[in-house]
Amino acid sequence: MPRTAVPAPASPVPRAADSDRRRTSASVVLRSVLEHGPVARSTVARLTGLSPASVTEHCARLTERGLIRESAAPRRSNGMGRPHVPVDLDDRRFLVAGVHVAVPYTTVALLDLRGRVVARRELRHERTEPARVLARAAEALAGLLAEVPGRRPLGVGVAVGGWVDRETGTVVEHELLGWREVPVRELLGARTGLPVRVDGHARALVHGERLFGRARGSRSVLHLFVGNMVDSAFATHDEVHYGPRSAAGAIAHLPVPGGTEPCACGRTGCLQAELSERTLCRRARAAGVTGAAD
Ligand SMILES: [Zn+2]
Repeated sequence: MPRTAVPAPASPVPRAADSDRRRTSASVVLRSVLEHGPVARSTVARLTGLSPASVTEHCARLTERGLIRESAAPRRSNGMGRPHVPVDLDDRRFLVAGVHVAVPYTTVALLDLRGRVVARRELRHERTEPARVLARAAEALAGLLAEVPGRRPLGVGVAVGGWVDRETGTVVEHELLGWREVPVRELLGARTGLPVRVDGHARALVHGERLFGRARGSRSVLHLFVGNMVDSAFATHDEVHYGPRSAAGAIAHLPVPGGTEPCACGRTGCLQAELSERTLCRRARAAGVTGAAD
């Protein structure tokens, strides 16, 4: 960012900026409760750097919405002063739906707010036209939701390989599925009636691992995915990187010196063509290795 001595003009929309800031700190409080709960509000204030008053206010709103609750056992700090009733995530009411479109199949799942899988189903592709694949996913999700009456879905997260533009919710290109400029957010939103977030699978995994998995608490993560697709994602200083049209981390078509595999892009020896599961299985079979599926 260029530095400038010129003071920034006063925002013409201070209320929107305020509500953005409020939303951001609400999400900081919620993440802190997810990570440390059950946790005292005063500890959340210390961990997040927000004022105790503002943490108390956020906790009241999050409780009202059913996202957090006071946990059962009040804790006394050294037997002194008022007992602190810690707060924790309320994982009883809401669910989040997940859709992962892989090359041979789609997985749909329902997860609670701690990222634990409540129900899941795998749908092998009969055909890979986007409208068909997404319609089946929406149908399967509706089926799973019908099995857990009383739980409310907050939204759908979709992860797809290849080049995915999070901003527009579009799969820009996925050669193996034959998808190009597919408006996944729009298509699945229309079918489910839920808010939909779409991201590349490598980046979605980095987000997931940072929130719930092995990368919890890590500010920097590098993830390399090698399967039918080959791609990567990375985070530094607590930020997962996207780049223009969310193309950061695209390594599928890096040239491998001496590579001989033809790639769907028309060139020969691209990383994805050389390392993909299909290529490795074919070479293994050619070398006499047996017993591998596909
Ligand atoms: Zn290529």
